Amino acid sequence: LKEVLDLDCIFCKIAKKEIPAEIVYEDDKIIAFKDVNPASPTHILFIPKEHIESVNFLNEEHKHLIGEIFLRIKEVAKEMNIDEDGYRIVNNCGELGGQTVNHLHFHLLAGRQMQWPPG
Ligand code: 5GP
Ligand code: ZN
Repeated sequence: LKEVLDLDCIFCKIAKKEIPAEIVYEDDKIIAFKDVNPASPTHILFIPKEHIESVNFLNEEHKHLIGEIFLRIKEVAKEMNIDEDGYRIVNNCGELGGQTVNHLHFHLLAGRQMQWPPG
């Protein structure tokens, strides 16, 4: 696994427990933790432990991983009892997409009325 980790990546460091985070889910391939600057009452980030920069870097080998991330989001949402009220899943890709951390992540946002279109 070492070779797929980016040594300067903050989310790789969270995945390796080198910097702390409030972890809400973890398995061998995926980790989910609370966003340090929450944009809603519930704001959790789901990441692959493997360093993938963004959606632009996904390939066929990642199909199962991405499917698993979405299933884990669904399960965490149910455990947190936000599933029935509803929630938003966000991925920001690249500069115009608003991506600020270059390690693929999906935001789970809940606990307030979301607006559309987003800003
Ligand atoms: P992006 O803008 O790339 O889609 O989202 C990056 C998210 O990561 C932001 O919501 C930001 O608050 C969060 N974030 C950045 N650095 C850290 C950190 O060190 N710990 C945690 N828990 N979240 C972080
Ligand atoms: Zn990384």
